Amino acid sequence: MATAELTDAERGYLETLYWLHEAELPMTAANVARAMQFSAPAVHEMIGRLERDDHITRGPGKVISFTASGERQAEEIVRRHRLIERFLTDVLGIPWDEVHDEAERLEHAMSPVLEERMLAAIGDATTCPHGHPIRVGARIPGVPLADVGEGASIRVLRFENEAEDLLHYLRDAGFEPGLEGTVAQSGEQEIVVAFGDRRATITRSVAETVSVTADPSPPPRVALPEQLVLGVQRYGR
Ligand SMILES: [Zn+2]
Repeated sequence: MATAELTDAERGYLETLYWLHEAELPMTAANVARAMQFSAPAVHEMIGRLERDDHITRGPGKVISFTASGERQAEEIVRRHRLIERFLTDVLGIPWDEVHDEAERLEHAMSPVLEERMLAAIGDATTCPHGHPIRVGARIPGVPLADVGEGASIRVLRFENEAEDLLHYLRDAGFEPGLEGTVAQSGEQEIVVAFGDRRATITRSVAETVSVTADPSPPPRVALPEQLVLGVQRYGR
């Protein structure tokens, strides 16, 4: 299988491209650079390589599309990655902010038999521990927490950016996919959510990357991680 020949870097790019595709965001090199927090030249080089290897094509306006085989590979990479993450949290008890890189390393070793066993082991879980659907196409629409008004009820759907530092930050702040709460404060710098009698605070830029369902809901807009500012630091992958 050609999948085995992909480098880690290529897999990471296909994963990000697949996420853009899933989120219905334009598949452009600029959006890949934003999502991965990589420099434009690095992204252009890799996009060129993926195109030469027939995983993607570029159309007018430099919009990227998957080739049929590229899409199949990306789907498989993404599905396995999310399944392994769920297995690591639910079956092995590894904290959800520590599984992303671990899953990336295990993907290579995954046989169809192991995949079957892992699927059976995770029971009825349908998403990775960060809220992304394991079954392709099952993404639930959400809005960025940053857009939600004060007083609205929310349910945390997904952390769109799975950079490990960002996940540590969200976990430390007390956020977790599936939690339900109320937006207590939506300030210029910070967003405060009351989960029961516990209050959790994150920066507005991080709240851009947290997808929620909300009632009342702001108009739909997909979260695109651009420059994440956590306190004074900037985070990337
Ligand atoms: Zn995940």
